[in-house]
Amino acid sequence: MNQPVLVDTHAHLDGSEYTSDFDAVLARAAAADVGIIVCAGQDEATSRATLELAARHHAVQPAVGVHPHLASSAGGMHWLDGLVRDARVVAIGECGLDYHYDFSPRDVQRDVFARQLQLAGELSKPVIIHCRESEDDLIDHLRRYYTRDRRAVVHCFTGTYDFGKALIDEFDVYLGIGGAVTFKKAEALHDAAARLPLERLVLETDCPYMTPAPHRGKRNEPAYLALTCARLADLRATTVEAIAQATTSNARRLFPGLLDGT
Ligand SMILES: [Zn+2]
Ligand SMILES: [Zn+2]
Repeated sequence: MNQPVLVDTHAHLDGSEYTSDFDAVLARAAAADVGIIVCAGQDEATSRATLELAARHHAVQPAVGVHPHLASSAGGMHWLDGLVRDARVVAIGECGLDYHYDFSPRDVQRDVFARQLQLAGELSKPVIIHCRESEDDLIDHLRRYYTRDRRAVVHCFTGTYDFGKALIDEFDVYLGIGGAVTFKKAEALHDAAARLPLERLVLETDCPYMTPAPHRGKRNEPAYLALTCARLADLRATTVEAIAQATTSNARRLFPGLLDGT
């Protein structure tokens, strides 16, 4: 084997963006050595949809949770308590705080995020965290509801080196590096991706969003993870194989429940 299977640690394949060519999307992923795709739920319907996709496709591995955008419609979350006990579920998420859009009131976002961090602790499940313009409250929540012996990823990391280093030092979390690292003007992120400890970085597409260069403006898909892997190798002055090897073993430490995929 010349290169380990890549793990896309964050994707949304359940949407209508993929209904017309889903099998071709998975075939292109496999051809690009992306053998495992963690699909994150955002509410009850999408969490159930990720479980259904996972039942049909080995490469797809499900996470279930409530996105901060949808926190105000999460209800009592009894459904999550049930779904998360499915043995195939590799993580709770995505969950977190998004103060950029504020689609749900911030106090509701905080409450729903806290409940998911607590549930993850009770069940020893990893957590997939979304954080946008909410860094202070993220740290506050991790201090209250998380301990560093657990597992979490701050996905779509676009922060500075200092913020990433502080998260790793205090909480021992992983950081998800996605398409943004391929953007020409993302200089602070380039610096962070180049210098943060490689053993805490994982790759993700967050597809259909965050499409890497040179495909910006089009739908993203897991096969494009290879572009992000190549850019990270370039920034760190190392080989694509070294990045693939490290990020795949990191993903397996982050999500111990991952199966072999394709
Ligand atoms: Zn997100
Ligand atoms: Zn996402």
